[in-house]
Amino acid sequence: MQDLLSDVLGGHRLTEAEALTLMNVRGRGLWEVVEAADTLREERAGDVVTYVRNQNINVTNICVNSCGFCGFSTKPGAADAYYYGKEIVQEKTHTARDRGVTEICTVSGLHPDFCAGSYIEIIEWIHEAAPDIHIHASNPMEVAHGAGKSGIATLEMLDEMKAAGLGSMCGTAAEILVDDVRAVICPGKIGSAAWERIIREAHGLGIRTTATIMYGHCDTDADRIKHLGVLRRIQDDTQGFTEFVPLSFIHYNTPIYQQGIAGAGATGREDLLMFAVSRLFLDNFDNIQSSWVKLGRKLAQLGLAAGGNDLGGTMFEESISKSAGATDTDYLDPAEMERMADDMGRPLRQRTTLYELV
Ligand code: SF4
Repeated sequence: MQDLLSDVLGGHRLTEAEALTLMNVRGRGLWEVVEAADTLREERAGDVVTYVRNQNINVTNICVNSCGFCGFSTKPGAADAYYYGKEIVQEKTHTARDRGVTEICTVSGLHPDFCAGSYIEIIEWIHEAAPDIHIHASNPMEVAHGAGKSGIATLEMLDEMKAAGLGSMCGTAAEILVDDVRAVICPGKIGSAAWERIIREAHGLGIRTTATIMYGHCDTDADRIKHLGVLRRIQDDTQGFTEFVPLSFIHYNTPIYQQGIAGAGATGREDLLMFAVSRLFLDNFDNIQSSWVKLGRKLAQLGLAAGGNDLGGTMFEESISKSAGATDTDYLDPAEMERMADDMGRPLRQRTTLYELV
C-alpha cells in the first residue's frame, strides 16, 4: 500500500481495483491513506478552506416517488404536504438576499403536476426577485420528470432553464450509480445511464454541476469505486463538475433503515476513507466538500484533513437531511466554520458557487 500511495503522489492514476484496495484498509493504514490524500489536497487545492453563503428553498415535499432512503417526501393530501407558490418563493428569496446569500439551491419532491414549465417558472421567480443571486437548481431526476411530463427532450428543458436564469445544476439524484443498488434504494428514479446523459447534456450547454455520491446504505466498497469511476470519466470528457460532495447516508427516519434493508449509515472509518480515496482517485477534481450537514461538525472538520477543502454552505433552512433524522442542520455560522478551519491551521474564505473567492 505504501508503494501505491507514493506512486499516486508521483502522478500515477489509480485504477478502480487499486482504489478498492485503499477503500478496504483497516487499522493504522487508514492514517496513511488519509495523509496521502491530505498531501494531494494541499497540492491541488491549497490550504484555503472555502464555504458558500447559500439558502435552500425546497418548493414542495409532494413526490411521485418513494425512495427508500428519503424521509422528506410525502404524498398529496398528507397532513405534512406543502407547496410554495410564487409569493412564498419570492419572499424567501428576498430574505436570502437580505442575509447576504450568493446562492439559492432549490430541489424539491417530484410533484405529480409539475412539468418542464413548473421548474422553469421557479427559476424565473427567484431570478426576478434577486437577479444577482446564483441559482443552483434541480438535478437530473427533476429534469427527467419535467421533460417527461411535457413531452420534450431533457436537452431542450435544460436549455430553457438556462435561458430563465439557471446558474448551475445540482448533481444529486446520483445516489450510487450502480443500477442493482438503485433498484433497491430508489426503484422509481432514473437509471445511472440517464443520470449520466443528462449531466453530460448540462455540461455540453455550459451548465456546470456538482457531483455527489450517497453512501453507507446497501452499497459496497466496490459500488462506491464504480461510482467514482463514472464521475472521473465524465469529468475527463467535460470538465463540467465544480466539486465532489460525498453524502453520508442519514438513516434514522428512512424506510430502508426501518425495514432492515440498510444499516445505520457509514462508520467514521468509512467516512474518512470516502474522502481520502476520492481525493486520490478523482485526479481531475479540484474541490471536495466535507458536508457538515451529513457528517456533523466534528467529523466534517476531520474530512478537511482527509482530502476535503470545502465546508459547503451556510444553508439557512435545510429540510431534507433534517427529515431523515439529522440534527443541527439549519444553519452554520461562518464564524463557527472559521473556528473549525482555524483549528486545523487553515484559513477560511467565502466562495461563489463556481469557486471564485469572494
Ligand atoms: S429522494 Fe427525491 S425523488 Fe426520491 S422520494 Fe425523496 S423527494 Fe422524491
